[in-house]
Formats: sequence, structure tokens, C-alpha cells
Amino acid sequence: MYWELSLETMERRELERHQLRLANASLARARRSPHYGQALARLPETGLASLRALEELPFTGKSELRAGFPYGFLAVDPEEVVRLHSSSGTTGNPTVVYHTRGDIADWENLIARCMYSTGVRKKDVFQNMMGYGLFTGGIGFHYGAERLGVMTIPIGPGNSKRQIWFLQHLGTTVIHILPSYALHLAGYFPELGIDPRRDLKLRIAFIGAEPHSEAIRRKIEEIYGLKAYNSYGLSEMCGPGVAFECLLQNGLHLWEDHFYPEIIDPLSGRLLPEGEEGELVLTTLKREAMPLIRYRTGDLTRILPGPCPCGRTHRRIERIKGRSDDMLIINGVNLFPIQIEKTLMAIPAVGRNYLIEVRKVDHMDRLEVKVELNEDVFRGTLAELEKLQARVVAELRAELGVSPVVKLVEPSSLPVSEGKARRVYDLRGGLG
Ligand code: AMP
Ligand code: ZN
Repeated sequence: MYWELSLETMERRELERHQLRLANASLARARRSPHYGQALARLPETGLASLRALEELPFTGKSELRAGFPYGFLAVDPEEVVRLHSSSGTTGNPTVVYHTRGDIADWENLIARCMYSTGVRKKDVFQNMMGYGLFTGGIGFHYGAERLGVMTIPIGPGNSKRQIWFLQHLGTTVIHILPSYALHLAGYFPELGIDPRRDLKLRIAFIGAEPHSEAIRRKIEEIYGLKAYNSYGLSEMCGPGVAFECLLQNGLHLWEDHFYPEIIDPLSGRLLPEGEEGELVLTTLKREAMPLIRYRTGDLTRILPGPCPCGRTHRRIERIKGRSDDMLIINGVNLFPIQIEKTLMAIPAVGRNYLIEVRKVDHMDRLEVKVELNEDVFRGTLAELEKLQARVVAELRAELGVSPVVKLVEPSSLPVSEGKARRVYDLRGGLG
């Protein structure tokens, strides 16, 4: 059940000593880069006396990474670099991340560890539906799965009918898929006359790369008849393989022999007491090409208290609630898109997709939610639909404290993308 028993179950105090040694080695490597050569100039050569002392060091943010493009964070001779990936990105300089051969080997091993922990074995057939290319989701899992020794189908996302053909004819047992794409793909089964629970051999899905609620996970599990495990990562650390659910699905073990986590208040930057929710900050412990010290992920979560019954000692983070920069302020009320998703998915008549738009109407913020219905409900009477609409409005109002405009739309009518889903459009032109 463990890929690396001694590392995964290392006694806490020993793990912390191990982390301190790794953190000091990581700081020493980081200082060879132009950025940290300056930013950490005052750090004594002897390094830190305790992990807690990391708190004294400056954060690294996405803006520094951008400013450091292209080589400001490179800590090794360029000849040692064997690969580059880039974060899915907004505007401006992309954030590029370099890897040495050692970094790639560590990453493969972490993915193998994650997959193994949920029961994937050599006899499985793995269909990787994440994008291949600069995005880390596809290639990262690909090599990890090969490392584990499982037959890997590098199909990538999209081309849904072919995707289903492979699932069926190769007897795929394990998939890696965006949660939004898993729901979209399910829309093809009725037309192909396939019942995924009866006609496919799927038993495990890895879902991640974008925020999703527990309700979406359950929906995916129910449609496909499998177990869906939450996989968290970000290109700046490596990609997927940073934190992962074990068989118990009660939070994601953050691999603390590779990354040191802190949770901070996103506004003040202060370290929060263990268990409180805030922004996840990560320090790489083993990365060679591009060590990052106190990197602000922008992701909101908390560290779950207590040990996990699975025996792994690495602490668990809660499912990511959203990004600190996703928060919407609607007429002064703060809310996260994931709250809307959670509410919608708890209503059985709601289908697989939704879209959130915010705009200014007469100087006020208007929150509009377009909701796909499921196939049976869509054919209901006008009176039934009106009743349903009123219910969606009431439940969203109760959850958010804001009254939305709700539009019920046809199944599969809202846009889907091959990459991470974009479901929030803030059309207030910078005024929000
Ligand atoms: P990228 O580096 O482009 O792959 O994007 C990484 C970001 O994707 C993270 O910082 C998170 O905001 C988001 N992300 C990745 N995995 C998850 C997950 N399992 N749940 C929620 N958000 C995720
Ligand atoms: Zn566990």
C-alpha cells in the first residue's frame, strides 16, 4: 500500500529534522540564482536553526517570477536543465519552470507514489486525458505512470467519442481528467448507448488542476461508477504530485519530504496557527534547477488536524477552496465561486455545467448564474421550471447572502474548453 514505506510513514519528529536539513540545502542551492542571491543575501551561511525560522524570510510571488523571466530563478548551470514547463497563464511574461534530470526523476517518483497509494498497479490500463505540452498535467502524470509500470495511453483531452472508444475497447481502468471535462464527457454516453457503470471497466479517476467541490466529485463517482481522487499541484513546484488523497479521501497528503507548507493570512502575510484557513505557501525542499522559497500559491486551504488512519505521517490539506484572487465582491459581500458550485450541485435537477457572470447594472453589481439542467428536467412544464428557478435563487441566496439572477439553460449548451474550465466572467471592467 505504500510506494516508499519509510518516507511516507516517517515519524513526525524525524520527518521535521529531515525537512530542516533539506530546507537548508535548498536555501544554499537557491542562493546560486540571481534572484535569491540578492533576496537571501543576509541569511547566515549556517542556514536556519529551525523550520519556524523560515518565517523570517521574504515571500516569493508570481510577480517576482515574472520579473525574473527568463533566468532570474535558475540555480544551476543551464546545461543541467533538461526540460521547461509553464504555468497556465494570464497576461505578461509566462512563468517558466526549469527541471534538471534529478527534478524530473523526483517528480516521476512522486506521481508513482500518489497513484500507488490509491491502488493503481501494473496491471491497470491508464488513459491520460490531461493536456500534453507546456501544461504539467499530461506529461507529469505520463512519466509517473510509466515509472509505476502501468500501460499509459497518452490521449490528451478532447475528441470525446474517440476517448470513449478507447475507454471501451482497451478496458481502461484508470483515468486522469479535469473534473469539468469528466462531466462534459458524460454527456456523450446516452447518444452512444453506453452505460459507463455497466459497459466500462473504470475503477479510479484522478481529478484536479482546477477547483471543484465535494458534490462534483460525488457526481463524477456516481456517473462513472468509480472512485475519484483529488490531485493537487502547481507548475511552480513541479506540477501534479504536490498533494494527493489517499484511499480514505479525507484531505490531501502534502508530500512533506519535498515541500514545506505554511498557511498565511493572505492580507497581512502573517503565519496562521495550525488548522486555520488561509493561503498556502510552499518551500521546495529538493528541487535543483529552480528552488522556490516561501512561494505564495494563491490557493486557499487549511491544514487538517490529527494523523490520517492510513499511516502516512505527512500532513493533509483540505480541498482547495479557491484562489485568494478568485474572490468576488458583490455589492460589498465576499464570496467564492466554489460556494455557488456546491449549492448548485446539491440540487438534483441541476445538470453538469454552469457559468457565472458579474456586471454593473445601474451602478450595482449583478450576479448572474446560468445553470444547465439535466436531460429529464429540461423537458418539464413551464410551471415546473419556474418553481425550480425560484428554488435555485433561494438556495443561492441562503448560501451567499446575495440575490442572484438565475437562468436555466439546455443540457450541454454552455461553453467547455479543453483546458481548465473558465466559469467566472467578471464584466465590471475593473470596477469590481
Ligand atoms: P498550473 O500551474 O497552471 O497547473 O496551475 C496550478 C493551479 O491550479 C493551482 O495553484 C491551483 O489554483 C489550481 N489547482 C491545481 N490542482 C487543484 C485541485 N486539485 N483543486 C483545486 N485547484 C487546483
Ligand atoms: Zn491518508
